[in-house]
Amino acid sequence: MKRRDFLKCAGACGTCGLVCATAPAAAAPAAGSASGRPAALTVRPYQLLCTICSLGADDAASSPHYAKAMKIRDAIRKKPDVPVTLSCQVGAIYSFQDSGTSEDTPEGEEYNRKRDFEVLEILSLPPGSTLPARALFELLMKGLPSVSGICGYGKATGEAWKGCPMAETGHYENGYCKGVKALIPPRDEKQMARDKAESLKAMYSADVVPVRAHIVVCAVCQYGEGLRPGYKEDNLPELLDVILNKNPDQKIKLVSDADWMICAPCPGRNPELGCCIHVMGSGELDSQKRDLDLLQKLGLRFGAVMKARDLYKLVFERVTTTHGIPDICIKQNTMPSVWWDECCGHLFNGNPRALYEKGRRAMMKKLGLAGNA
Ligand code: SF4
Ligand code: SF4
Repeated sequence: MKRRDFLKCAGACGTCGLVCATAPAAAAPAAGSASGRPAALTVRPYQLLCTICSLGADDAASSPHYAKAMKIRDAIRKKPDVPVTLSCQVGAIYSFQDSGTSEDTPEGEEYNRKRDFEVLEILSLPPGSTLPARALFELLMKGLPSVSGICGYGKATGEAWKGCPMAETGHYENGYCKGVKALIPPRDEKQMARDKAESLKAMYSADVVPVRAHIVVCAVCQYGEGLRPGYKEDNLPELLDVILNKNPDQKIKLVSDADWMICAPCPGRNPELGCCIHVMGSGELDSQKRDLDLLQKLGLRFGAVMKARDLYKLVFERVTTTHGIPDICIKQNTMPSVWWDECCGHLFNGNPRALYEKGRRAMMKKLGLAGNA
């Protein structure tokens, strides 16, 4: 549920209970796309670098070197998760995505092609790849701290290899130090606090609380870690407080998105799309996979509504640990990968396993499920 849906519903039916919790989410068609899918921004790989370079220059807005970069910055600031397609001039078997040379910089075709290839090679992406802008720039900021050897080579070996005049200025390196947050500002702290207050109010009055499926397991880890109500970044501790101390029969509905009622204050949530954008901008992929992993283990589908005690009884029977391969939390992905996430990193340090198991034991005791431990 999006906040605006809740407010609309609250206005119409006075409270946000079962009616609005079960209403199907409307898919809003994206501007600029007849199919309803957001239209992709097509850029040359080197222009990603110029975008970062412009962040480190004092006069970027007035410099012809950064004309395209400023347009990219503007588009991304408006829509941080806009799809970006990396197109360059390759020919041969990659001709399906060829960019032509109209956006080549003046240094010549060979230099332009080599510079595009350098970027794609470092990011390990093929020409024609499309990623959400946030994920793409997060990836870039992990792998490309300097344009030395990419945009300029120190000593020119020939007329065609003088490089970009900006290459030795340090602009790119300055921009890189500013980080992705200079391009895509994080969510506003005050707004997140307001979202926390409003969504909690909604949760406390809801007959059925919609919860993204896999985070019923995250809530156990949080409980094991000792997080209790007042946690800024989501409403899971407050939900567990209701379940464990007030109403174990609270109905929970397993949903497939980062529903506003629990996720509203999360810094890793895109409020417009109601999805996860943590873990380098790719969190929605990881979250969807975890949702499905958990549903498969529980034998349930999205939309299942259960009393919380019954749901956790099933979870604790079927998910005894976050370790085990394949399992919900541990992953074998190398980094960087759009499938990687922080929990994998923590798990390889062996930590959340203990947190989950501790939380599971404590919650079972509270819910009178200790006989099944
Ligand atoms: S040095 Fe030139 S080509 Fe390289 S990122 Fe900066 S402006 Fe772009
Ligand atoms: S990361 Fe996603 S699922 Fe988890 S609390 Fe934030 S928005 Fe919700």
